[in-house]
Amino acid sequence: MSLRMPESTNECIYFTRRAFDNGRVIAWVYRKECPQCGKAKMGKPLDPKTKKPKIRADTYECPDCGFSKPKQEYEESLTVEIIYTCPYCGFSGEATTEYKRKSWEGVKAYVFVCQACGKKIGITKKMKEKKGEG
Ligand SMILES: [Zn+2]
Ligand SMILES: [Zn+2]
Repeated sequence: MSLRMPESTNECIYFTRRAFDNGRVIAWVYRKECPQCGKAKMGKPLDPKTKKPKIRADTYECPDCGFSKPKQEYEESLTVEIIYTCPYCGFSGEATTEYKRKSWEGVKAYVFVCQACGKKIGITKKMKEKKGEG
């Protein structure tokens, strides 16, 4: 497996960097092409006045043909791609997981398994991160 890091966060609907005591994680989710026309990438619908994406919209829309999908359904079809250094065993590798938060150590997180030691690593919602990240 060889993941390609996004060149710009515009390619992604999710991007985060995390540092643990003994490890780190960079994770992202690429926007996917419209399943209807295949010509453009789905994104949040644009506000007709400002032409900016409506971040809080609960649908994703194709800017080309207008095909739309409910947010949850669309997001659950996506994959989180991860480059990590395992905080438990120090292994550096790559992983993927569903773009769907699961329960992990009592909180909701995107969870993946270290391929070296088999421990679960969670990417929780950011709480005390520096500004401008995630
Ligand atoms: Zn389309
Ligand atoms: Zn490990």
